[in-house]
Amino acid sequence: MASITNAFEMAQRQFDHVAEMLRLDPDVRELLRWPSREYHFRIPVRMDDGSIRSFQGYRVQHNDARGPNKGGIRFHPAETVDTVRALATWMTWKCAVVDIPLGGGKGGVIVDPATLSIGEKERLVRGFVQQIHKNIGPRNDVPAPDVGTTPQMMGWMMDEYSKLVGQYTPGVITGKPLGGGGSLGRTEATGFGVIYTVREALKHLGLESSDCRAAIQGFGNVAQYAAIGFTETLKGKVVCVSYWDRDDRCAYTVSNEDGMDPHLLMEATDQYGSIDKAKVKAAGYTLEDGDAWITKEAEVLIPAALEGQINSESVNQISDKVRVIAEGANGPTTPEADKVLEERGVFVIPDFLCNAGGVTVSYFEGVQNDMNFYWTREEVIQRLDTKMSHAFTDVLDMTIKQKVFTRDAAYMVAIARVVKAMELRGLI
Ligand code: GLU
Repeated sequence: MASITNAFEMAQRQFDHVAEMLRLDPDVRELLRWPSREYHFRIPVRMDDGSIRSFQGYRVQHNDARGPNKGGIRFHPAETVDTVRALATWMTWKCAVVDIPLGGGKGGVIVDPATLSIGEKERLVRGFVQQIHKNIGPRNDVPAPDVGTTPQMMGWMMDEYSKLVGQYTPGVITGKPLGGGGSLGRTEATGFGVIYTVREALKHLGLESSDCRAAIQGFGNVAQYAAIGFTETLKGKVVCVSYWDRDDRCAYTVSNEDGMDPHLLMEATDQYGSIDKAKVKAAGYTLEDGDAWITKEAEVLIPAALEGQINSESVNQISDKVRVIAEGANGPTTPEADKVLEERGVFVIPDFLCNAGGVTVSYFEGVQNDMNFYWTREEVIQRLDTKMSHAFTDVLDMTIKQKVFTRDAAYMVAIARVVKAMELRGLI
């Protein structure tokens, strides 16, 4: 299922729609529609065979009124400057909606990381930092992992930055490995955060989570911990997950109506997300077409892959059993599909609320780095749950008060906070 909408156009359309509802000042509107800064650069890398290959890299800073720009770096073959712009913009709204003192940014490199050796990957991420180190830092822009990047890569980036500035600077980047300046709970944070918002949504709808099924698109970091949280914390059943098979160059849905064991699925998954077919078949699970996840009978649908997956066509395939859509991915639903879901009365937990758990624990990681004092996993997870639950309540209250779609309500909460910070700083 390909993305059919330009992600940045989508981010601007969502914003314009709410800016119009809020009758936001046209000058402020224009300011917030665009990133405040962006960097485009080539990264030359010495490959293992001795040749030099250069990769296209980007870092986009959308808005820093509430604090340093914050957001991950994606390594993906289909990355474009517009996907990075969209993701940077959503980061501004994400940090604002969970009320952490950070702005929005995002980075990207056009590359398929699975085609690189470990050494080539290390040289590429160090090269990324060499090109951008003057424009990032704990007080102006703090990168993190995203699709295609890992804690180990964050560790290399932190090391490269520290060498370039001449002092150990763990706070320049988050999502670092444990023992290398990382925070306990960061790996699970996004997926668990998704589940805390699902729990609150089900409570609001009067549904018992242990009676609910979840259909998940994707089985990367977010989907894996959402699956664990859904089965272990909410006691529900995960009836399918989907993944991209590198060998067959197509997607598959792995399903079982009676529910699946997320740990078994994780053990069957390699570092690039391909699942061992023989292992899942041996567990009695079925392999289906990659698009099958969207048609499944389930109370909760969790798109946790890439942008534009629920669009004007695929939205009509969603079962009428679905009550909640929890957007683990960034930008999975197009504005056309939103209209259909709103009419059908599906409770959508919008991406920048639903998947804000990752950046929330990134913020905690930065705080711990600054203090040079580290919290227990329980403290991190508890604080994460509190932050996510409060953010959910703020958005739900706005939905009810303004009688608007949940995504619009989330924008209203986030825009109000960013505009207030801009006013207080005298920027507008
Ligand atoms: N890449 C994650 C996101 O989209 C995390 C960003 C961060 O931790 O800064 O929210």
